[in-house]
Amino acid sequence: MKQLLIILGISLTIILIPSFLISAGLTIFFGHFWYLFLVAVGTIFVIGELSNRYFQTKILADIQNFKAKIEQLRSEQSVVASCAYCKQRLTIPVKLSQRTTYECPHCKQTNLVVFQFTTAQITTPLELPQLGSMSTLQGQAVGAELPNQQPNPSA
Ligand SMILES: [Zn+2]
Repeated sequence: MKQLLIILGISLTIILIPSFLISAGLTIFFGHFWYLFLVAVGTIFVIGELSNRYFQTKILADIQNFKAKIEQLRSEQSVVASCAYCKQRLTIPVKLSQRTTYECPHCKQTNLVVFQFTTAQITTPLELPQLGSMSTLQGQAVGAELPNQQPNPSA
């Protein structure tokens, strides 16, 4: 509400002060101050409204262009994959919406990039006790290995 009042105040100031100055100046030559004042207010209001619509349209078009550019950048991603012939790893630009082939620079064979998607369950980490110092950690590891390292008497 406060912002609206500020915008209204600024708008009225932008319209009324120039209208007053223009009509006061023209009154010297033509008289009829209030008539000239109302014409100046109407003219400035119409000009302001037209320029406002123009800039709003321009800003919306810029936003649309920006969104299209972001979408284009998102679609141009790359994957690291091995060549199917010589197994050399290479970063390959891919588009999910297109069939992607590339020529391996090492063996000059043409490869087809195949995507394989899968799903996974979302899990939460277990609540584990805080680990102590490194020596405590090593002690636990040694203690855990001891039963496995004892020789089997029956062997
Ligand atoms: Zn290759």
